[in-house]
Amino acid sequence: MTPLPPGATIGILGGGQLGRMLAGAAAQLGFDVLIYSPEDDPPAGRVAAGAFQADWDDAEALREFAAACDVITLEFENVPVESVRIIEVAGKRVLPGAASLSVSQDRLAEKTFLNQHGIATAPFHRIDAAGDIAPALASLGTAGVLKTRRDGYDGKGQAWVRSPQGAEAAWAAIGAAPAILEGAIAFDCEISVLVARGQDGTTTSWAPPRNTHKDGILDRSVVPSGLPKGVEEEARRKAMHLAEALGHVGVLALEFFVLPDGTLLANEFAPRVHNSGHCTPEACKTGQFEQHIRCVAGWPLGDTYRLFDAEMINLIGEAGHVDPAKLGPEDVLTLYGKREARPGRKMGHITRRLAPRKD
Ligand code: AMP
Repeated sequence: MTPLPPGATIGILGGGQLGRMLAGAAAQLGFDVLIYSPEDDPPAGRVAAGAFQADWDDAEALREFAAACDVITLEFENVPVESVRIIEVAGKRVLPGAASLSVSQDRLAEKTFLNQHGIATAPFHRIDAAGDIAPALASLGTAGVLKTRRDGYDGKGQAWVRSPQGAEAAWAAIGAAPAILEGAIAFDCEISVLVARGQDGTTTSWAPPRNTHKDGILDRSVVPSGLPKGVEEEARRKAMHLAEALGHVGVLALEFFVLPDGTLLANEFAPRVHNSGHCTPEACKTGQFEQHIRCVAGWPLGDTYRLFDAEMINLIGEAGHVDPAKLGPEDVLTLYGKREARPGRKMGHITRRLAPRKD
């Protein structure tokens, strides 16, 4: 594909904070952005050149959106694959495409795909009814986490199962939906690898952040992870291999559990820019948002070399009411422009350069 010239229009499916930050990066490179979102007044819509408000199954609106854009990307992994197909039939490319979306939208398909491509995960079993849980638990031989196959995020749609007697309650807790039961992993820490793959197959990745969660929601990401170089390199290789196997174009984030002996077990991937990559604009020569836009626009990819040690703190719920007078000199504040702070809602984040890179 010939590189998209500045002044062209990039469409983004989804209107949340990731779309808002992508729109900022696109604007910096001279593109116009149009947002498509079912939400009224989405955070991304307020920084874009325009916004369509319509449902994911509104074929006419999707075709109108496609006609107004030169290329289309996404910031939300649960965009229905059918919506993507409507845009493709209308003659516009959606990057990343349907393969990355359909695999990541279903935990069973996702973990099966990862294992088929040599990327180990926690052991898991398919659960279609409450009665499937006890035998799966017996086969795991540990406690398990019951996770809905679809629509789970930030720890939602999950319930721990510690004994066969707990099966019915866990099944009810996740809404009796198709699920997997996954073995409990006694991990040492969690990391994620962000990788970007261009339209010509060039792949770059960033140094993996170490991530800590609170109540199932990402709280803090730090680079470097402090893990041995060999473990980081293996994680980066696996993420690049995944992007290639999917034929992915754009940024993708693969999350791992790291066991005490350095073994990596992949947990899940997001076919998009990611909360754990928010340090990249401050820490690295090229950040995730700019790189994603470069991929989608068919531009050469930027250098992801890490220049600084850095951290990111999420501002969740009321923490989003930041007093600008209390920020430190190194604090870089990003607020998402959400009208209302609700418990568990991501309102913004602070990134901080900690020191120039030492190694
Ligand atoms: P997920 O929605 O799969 O990303 O899970 C959210 C968080 O729950 C993870 O980041 C882990 O901290 C924890 N978790 C998920 N699956 C497991 C597991 N199999 N064993 C232990 N902890 C888990």
